[in-house]
Amino acid sequence: MIPAGFDYHAPATIGEATALLSRLGDDAKVLSGGQSLIPLLKLRLASPRHLVDINRIPGLAYVKEADGALRIGALAREVDLDESDVVRARYPLLADATRVIADPLVRNLATVAGNLAHGDPANDHPAVMLALGAEITATGPFGARRIPIGSFFKGPFETALKPDELLTEIRAPAPPPRSGGAYVKLERKVGDFATAAVAAQITLAGDGTVADIGIALTNVGLTPIKADKAEAALRGRRPDDAAIKEAAQLAADAARPEPDLRGSAEYKKDVVRVLTARALRKAIERAGGGK
Ligand SMILES: Cc1cc2nc3c(=O)[nH]c(=O)nc-3n(C[C@H](O)[C@H](O)[C@H](O)COP(=O)(O)OP(=O)(O)OC[C@H]3O[C@@H](n4cnc5c(N)ncnc54)[C@H](O)[C@@H]3O)c2cc1C
Repeated sequence: MIPAGFDYHAPATIGEATALLSRLGDDAKVLSGGQSLIPLLKLRLASPRHLVDINRIPGLAYVKEADGALRIGALAREVDLDESDVVRARYPLLADATRVIADPLVRNLATVAGNLAHGDPANDHPAVMLALGAEITATGPFGARRIPIGSFFKGPFETALKPDELLTEIRAPAPPPRSGGAYVKLERKVGDFATAAVAAQITLAGDGTVADIGIALTNVGLTPIKADKAEAALRGRRPDDAAIKEAAQLAADAARPEPDLRGSAEYKKDVVRVLTARALRKAIERAGGGK
């Protein structure tokens, strides 16, 4: 459980960090909260020759609403989301998710950016950000670019980030009135990765029909899955029991789980069906002003 040797770098600015990453290439790994990377190093599943620790770069630990979006900086920790009044009041989907990630020790260090950059389909934030329709800012030596979350996850542990880029910000669009969201996760014990989980974000029109909807699934495929057909089944329709049941089945059909210690593929698909209905009901209740 002792990592292989590495050189440690602690840049003071984003520019220094991206210059280092550009110079060191594939031999380097970014270190933020270390909650995924350090275990990999200890198990020697990763042995980078250089670690670029971004924790000393000032100004990246923010969670704030600005320019019509919730903006989460690269060094915002799970605990920062949990303690954020704006997240609690306006982004219940995010508030739900951060509370079911690991345990307080991990949440004090783990960053939301690291959760996404790691590209683990078992992680909780990828589906949450898909349901919210978020956007990633990636900053490299030649500047910043925006990546829609839908094209960010390329495969298991593979994202659209280039080796010389930092994930510097996540932006989730501010919800219009009559919006609500929920994240519902089934785990074997508190703090575990999901057997399956469902993120739902809904906006209701004045007449009670669904104006906008995002549904995404955790840990039932090689990447997080956007349940497009389930969303389409609800859009423009009154979200009554029949509509929710249909959408829940379509979400289950979209799941591509592998059997493992957490259960068979059939079981996990059924879990998705049940959790989708629960997430939708909670999101609808919250869109109507409920907690
Ligand atoms: C006991 C335990 C239980 C856990 N349970 C859960 C769980 O239930 N749900 C869940 O979602 N996660 C869980 N995790 C995983 C962990 O919470 C996340 O993966 C974590 O958020 C990663 O963030 P980090 O800042 O620690 O990243 P690090 O470990 O520092 O980095 C992870 C990866 O992302 C890259 N990276 C990090 N930040 C950046 C950046 N800004 N730009 C570019 N690349 C970057 C690193 O190079 C590395 O490849 C658990 C972890 C532990 C140890």
